[in-house]
Amino acid sequence: MGTIMPDWMTLARATLCRAYKYTGVLSVHEAIARAYGRRFMTILLFHRVTDQRPEDGLTINTARFRRICAMLSRRFEVVPLAEVFRIVRSGEEMPKRTVAITFDDCYYDNLAAARVLAEYGLPATFFLPTGYVGTERVFDWDRGLAPMPNLSWDDVKSMIRMGFEIGSHTVSHANLGAVNMDQAREEMIASRNTLQDRLGIPVRWFAYPFGGQNHLRPEFVPLIREAGYDGALSAFGGFIRPGIDDQILPREAVPYFKSLAHLEVYLSGCLHWIYALKRSKPFEGYPNLWPTEYQSDFPASHSLIGSR
Ligand SMILES: [Zn+2]
Repeated sequence: MGTIMPDWMTLARATLCRAYKYTGVLSVHEAIARAYGRRFMTILLFHRVTDQRPEDGLTINTARFRRICAMLSRRFEVVPLAEVFRIVRSGEEMPKRTVAITFDDCYYDNLAAARVLAEYGLPATFFLPTGYVGTERVFDWDRGLAPMPNLSWDDVKSMIRMGFEIGSHTVSHANLGAVNMDQAREEMIASRNTLQDRLGIPVRWFAYPFGGQNHLRPEFVPLIREAGYDGALSAFGGFIRPGIDDQILPREAVPYFKSLAHLEVYLSGCLHWIYALKRSKPFEGYPNLWPTEYQSDFPASHSLIGSR
């Protein structure tokens, strides 16, 4: 798979976003939005950070990842996932430019990414499908491509020693929208038990595989608590706003943003008026636009490929 959108479009967006930022319009816009009570937080989703294959909906290269880390550490408050859940549940005011970082799927390159995160002092949570860790098992979407090794249990332990948190991503990376209740329960409980037994750490968070709206049936939501998790994450985009359902929080897949400026301006929350205009809908003072916004503006490849 190649780039997500044509290069001229990436360039145009990056140029506009840079202009928005460097003319100072962005910070004025942000200040006004906050003055009008607009509050939100964002959880970012990464999969692969590697130079071994071209960037795609799951992959960013190592140089870009480092630039993103530098930008986040300078311009945003990067907090542990638990802090995002705590703020959502406490009802306290959501702080400015607050972001959490997550990774899914246990690619071996996450170990090097963790070292870069540690260099910048950025916390992150890595969601692992336990049936893949320490094996040569290949995800269906990677079949026929150059091998992408998985993390070993020792790799995961060294990530824990670096201070990173581990969450569950089921055992077999099952589509929980296509299994029965017993299978879903087993995937959620067994993966948590394995992580806790092998790593000797508490496992509080669950990210359901594929992460779309059809990949976790509503009747399975109580299993999150039953299996012992404090909360879960989806993998489709959207900001976290006051009053959101606090059991399953949304995430933004980073590879969609092909330039640093686009990512920063997007994370500042100042692009929503563009999406509102594009849909020719009333502005309505920053309504929660998800999921209409995402489905109308984002290419299908983003939601399908960018959310394994
Ligand atoms: Zn996944």
